Amino acid sequence: HISSLSRYKSQPTKTRDGKAITLLANAELPEDISTISAAGAQGIGLYRTEFLYMNRLSPPEEEEQLAAYRDVVEGMNGQPVTIRTFDLGADKTVDGGRQLSQNIVTNPALGLRAIRLCLTQPAMFRTQLRAILRASAFGKIKIMFPMISTMNELFQARNLLEQCKAELDREGLEYDRHIEIGAMIEIPASAVCAEMFARHVDFLSIGTNDLIQYTLAIDRIDDHVNYLYDPLHPAVLKLIHMTLEAGRKHQIPVSMCGEMAGDARYTRLLLAMGLENFSMHPNALLEVKRIINETDLAQLPANTLQIMAVSDAIEADMLIEQINEPDH
Ligand code: PEP
Ligand code: MG
Repeated sequence: HISSLSRYKSQPTKTRDGKAITLLANAELPEDISTISAAGAQGIGLYRTEFLYMNRLSPPEEEEQLAAYRDVVEGMNGQPVTIRTFDLGADKTVDGGRQLSQNIVTNPALGLRAIRLCLTQPAMFRTQLRAILRASAFGKIKIMFPMISTMNELFQARNLLEQCKAELDREGLEYDRHIEIGAMIEIPASAVCAEMFARHVDFLSIGTNDLIQYTLAIDRIDDHVNYLYDPLHPAVLKLIHMTLEAGRKHQIPVSMCGEMAGDARYTRLLLAMGLENFSMHPNALLEVKRIINETDLAQLPANTLQIMAVSDAIEADMLIEQINEPDH
């Protein structure tokens, strides 16, 4: 099966009726880079930086981070790398993170995590922003902020970034002056208000792992409620659709970097909704590419988007099977 997929590696990604799609990879560890190149990704759509902060007592210094980001961007040979600022807290615990948030909280997923934690630790956040900026002198880098829920968070993050740029200017250190900035849409409120964010960023990226967790109120790591975790829930689909519409309206790219983007079962549905940028685990890439290359968008069932109005999970499953029938 793998070998039959490998012929897709060198093919461009586009639907049978000619719509070009961008397939990017998610990276969690430096060693993922070789798998990513082998899978034929067009870049990295989500570079998770949490690994840098794990299993240690103090956060990494600027030079260490710069080396890590430079390695990845050079390893990608000119392809774009979207670096997400540290998303610690909740399910992403760190040993050295103990001093970051000492409170034992009942609902860590609703607590001080991701951008919220970044903004309460400005020194640590600035170290990361400086390292990312400096690495942008060595290749195409974009910056992405996790779990944005208010405009204020976005402005604060941007402000810190501008301060870091000014510092680097004073120090005579190089960086990409046109570095693009994006926000992750992974909170229902942010999907509903995606337009508001779309006006102020260069791109949006939908994090379905958290978006589903927060929309359906199910802890993403709690096996007891796992059965409720459903990307086809109409609320989830409507929020994804709203985010894509906001991107179209404001003419900025929207990508998806949660697990849903790498699940071949949803590829055609997402194509029909207008998703053009998929970022996923490198192992999922060729199968998703095969589906894209074998799909004629114009031939998808006319009722594809009706799935957003389907209230019954069994009916939604039937519809998705119909969408995925090979002759479409
Ligand atoms: C997501 O929430 O979908 C996502 C891509 O981020 P993470 O899984 O790292 O929280
Ligand atoms: Mg997330």
